[in-house]
Amino acid sequence: MVKIIFFQPHPDDLELKCGHIIHYLATKSNNMHDIRIASITKGEFGLPGAQYDKFKGDFLAKIRTQELYNAQSIHGISPDKIDFFGYVDGLVNFNREFVNKIANYLNKEKPDIIFGPEPIYTSYYHMDHVNTGRALFHCIYKKLIDFTPILYFYSCLNPNFFFGFKKEGFELINKLLSCHKTQFWLINLLKMIYKPSARFAGRKLKGWKYAEKFRRVYFKENNLIKNQPSLITRISSHFFSSLPFFQAKYPQDVLKGLKKKKK
Ligand SMILES: [Zn+2]
Repeated sequence: MVKIIFFQPHPDDLELKCGHIIHYLATKSNNMHDIRIASITKGEFGLPGAQYDKFKGDFLAKIRTQELYNAQSIHGISPDKIDFFGYVDGLVNFNREFVNKIANYLNKEKPDIIFGPEPIYTSYYHMDHVNTGRALFHCIYKKLIDFTPILYFYSCLNPNFFFGFKKEGFELINKLLSCHKTQFWLINLLKMIYKPSARFAGRKLKGWKYAEKFRRVYFKENNLIKNQPSLITRISSHFFSSLPFFQAKYPQDVLKGLKKKKK
């Protein structure tokens, strides 16, 4: 039995990036895989604009948890296979506490393979995503865990692993996305770029028209240079993180309530 853990910062991240590979591993490979989903936050602030403030916090977290359960049930993954890390949406920081939490979890679960968001060559610059990917890399690279799982990153700009799917596969993605009803404002936008980007990735894979793309990270010494962000990546990271769009602006009373509870 191969154990695979899919990490996601928010409840809907895996659908567009790993929907096909999860579906294949969970339903079509003769029960050879034990799959877990690790969700860092419950997406408690994932609605645009102040008009939705009254829903943010615990209420939205509860709805989005159910949305995640509904979507994963399409793969036959039950709620007891889904873990939450209890972080607040938008406030996932790369620090000792977060890294230790991830390391402890990995040491307990001992996965053979891990999927997580790309932190370096990313096409989706959101601090929750970047910091989750960084923590996963750090745990393995710095040997904070006593084994070496295979690590794949999704939403990467320089993929080296492709998973092909057929045209009918778009129905699966639509079904998965339609479970995340609270994300209506974002999903239609993402859907527009989904097909061209799957088509583009499919060109790299012989015999397939569409594909999901990943970067497998190699931890061999002579390969490590590829895991260091280039100067240009570092500068643009700095620039992006300073943009107001990427900074959490949350209703302060809701935020205070959540932070108090988490302590
Ligand atoms: Zn996300």
